[in-house]
Amino acid sequence: MNITATTQKVGLLGWPLSHSLSPAMHNAAFAASGLDYVYLPLAVPPELLSQAVTGVKALGFAGINVTIPHKIAVMDYLDEIDNSARLVGAVNTIVNKEGRLIGHNTDAGGYISSLKLAGVAVTGKHVVILGAGGAARAVAAGFIANHAASVVISARDLGKVDGIVKLLPINTPVYGTGWDSRDFTAALSKADIVINTTPLGMYPNIASQPPLPWELLRPSAVISDLVYNPLTTAFMAEAVRRGHTVVGGEGMLAEQGALAFELWTGCSAPRDIMQQVLLSKLSK
Ligand code: NAP
Repeated sequence: MNITATTQKVGLLGWPLSHSLSPAMHNAAFAASGLDYVYLPLAVPPELLSQAVTGVKALGFAGINVTIPHKIAVMDYLDEIDNSARLVGAVNTIVNKEGRLIGHNTDAGGYISSLKLAGVAVTGKHVVILGAGGAARAVAAGFIANHAASVVISARDLGKVDGIVKLLPINTPVYGTGWDSRDFTAALSKADIVINTTPLGMYPNIASQPPLPWELLRPSAVISDLVYNPLTTAFMAEAVRRGHTVVGGEGMLAEQGALAFELWTGCSAPRDIMQQVLLSKLSK
């Protein structure tokens, strides 16, 4: 990498940032595309977020990714919020357009792209989302934007579920249930796609998985897990054992990155390289 005064700077704002795979993924993508860009990890504590965003402008960064815990708070410091971020209620990608910072969200689109790339159709499908955090909201927004027939958000804490359903647009087919309700079992029995958006199964707790009455599922139901470390979670392994098609979380990670790359550079992202980098890091 030959960094000069004209190299375009992008990076990742988060706290802490010790395990991020984004710098390796993006720097490999820039190199493969012959683009003079560099991607930097920028660990910023919450109390310094506003100064950091001012710094993005002052230092002339072309763009920024935003991760936990800044995805919602950063919205207060931006000049404009794109529809993609408004629907999710969070920003994960900022574009510096001639000094104006515009907040986008590529998590929702990235997740839906990862399903489509895996051959899973979304329009007209019945969806059950397990978990009611930030990732659940992004995934739900993605399904709504892509005209799913119904989106049921279900978690152990009904209060959190209601909270997230209220934040999604009204007059859309989104419903909330607790994990122990009859509505949940009814939704599961007609589900086309079931997604784990909880951290259950994530390293180091790799044996855990969401409690699912598997016998209720249709054999054709697709099982998806946002957890990408490990690449095959206990939830996915159980689904494969039962004959379901599975889609892992590394596809979303690569696709949200590819969409951010395209927003910053205006060039098509080298998806194969980005996936290769992620897979090589995650399989170690
Ligand atoms: P979050 O905002 O903290 O939400 C987590 C959700 O999971 C909450 O509903 C939480 O319920 C539930 N949960 C946590 N521990 C649980 C347990 N032991 N049993 C049952 N439910 C539990 O987190 P997030 O940002 O949505 O992220 C969730 C997961 O998605 C993480 O593993 C993250 O790595 C992954 N993710 C992957 C990608 C990707 O690109 N593949 C992108 C974003 C996120 P309570 O509120 O009751 O605790």
